[in-house]
Amino acid sequence: MGSPSLTGVSELAGIPATVPVPGVPGAGSTEDTGAEAGPAAGSDAAATADPHAAEERRRPALSPSRAADFKQCPLLYRFRAVDRLPEAPSAAALRGTLVHSVLERLFDLPAADRVPARAKALVGLVWAEIAAETPELAAAVLAELQERAAATAEAAEAPAEAPEEAPEEAPAEAVEAAEVSEPADLLPAWLASAEALLDTYFALEDPRSFEPQSRELLVETELGSGVPLRGYLDRLDVDAEGGLRIVDYKTGTAPREASEARALFQMKFYALALLELHGTVPEQLRLVYLGEGGEELTYRPEAGELRRFQRILEAIWAAIREADRTGDFRPRRGPGCAWCAHRALCPAWDGTPPPYPGWPELRAASGPAHGDAHGGGASSAA
Ligand code: SF4
Repeated sequence: MGSPSLTGVSELAGIPATVPVPGVPGAGSTEDTGAEAGPAAGSDAAATADPHAAEERRRPALSPSRAADFKQCPLLYRFRAVDRLPEAPSAAALRGTLVHSVLERLFDLPAADRVPARAKALVGLVWAEIAAETPELAAAVLAELQERAAATAEAAEAPAEAPEEAPEEAPAEAVEAAEVSEPADLLPAWLASAEALLDTYFALEDPRSFEPQSRELLVETELGSGVPLRGYLDRLDVDAEGGLRIVDYKTGTAPREASEARALFQMKFYALALLELHGTVPEQLRLVYLGEGGEELTYRPEAGELRRFQRILEAIWAAIREADRTGDFRPRRGPGCAWCAHRALCPAWDGTPPPYPGWPELRAASGPAHGDAHGGGASSAA
């Protein structure tokens, strides 16, 4: 058996209410922040958008998003977890981070003040902090919004089908879209879309009626087999009887079957980590979807099921370590490639990956030459 520990504490009563997050101030869960941006981004925030990335610079561990990366495409896992290549965040990913941060900070307020108006005021505040502390992220988002507006204008200008005669004037919507393509004009609408997600949140629960046990909680443990687990819980609630409820906010829409399975994978991961740490199966896993009218999914895990899930994690970790041993992280082409930030380096798309740098903890100890033992890395397409 490993030595389970919850970062900084060993007993539930001592769990800090909020764990400071490096990078983006008060930033939210990385398990969700890209959920609207497609399968690849949905696995996690991109490396540079990931407010928890600094934690990952410690020894590698399995997280729900990295496990999902490896299942989707081993080379994607390598690029993110081993090479740790930077990725530009999407506007959707950063909006998710923004909303998570607001929901986290909302519980810093006295219960009576946790109302929509205060939450919306936090949107502007958190965005200002993000823009001040990571101006490159803010600039990337604004550039994406501008690109989208330009594409919308272009699409509106283009005739649906080849007309016999070209229209004399561009449609009014196209002119309008083109006129609002300055980033400063687009930002208010983007921030309003974040506020709309918060409206949905308030329709689903009343944050004045309870006190979370913890927010943005780093959970870190090791399975008996030695598999290191690490992840952040959006929120942990404890009921009057001591039952644990894991809450995860999703800023995308309610899931289709595949993404629901992915979300449940994430929640079982956290439930197993808490079981390992406290010997208690959480009473509830609750997914709170804030997009398109909102929806909640609640799941009640059982110990036997979590132990079976543990074997899945162990198999994934074994496959990752075997890939590290050989340096063979094969690309797996699929729909997620459309959102992959690393296509230019991917042999499945005629790219060339950098030489395999070796496992990060060994790299830190012995220097970059460690990668030589792996014979140059993943170079074969699936
Ligand atoms: S582009 Fe390459 S690395 Fe990225 S997901 Fe597709 S196959 Fe994997």
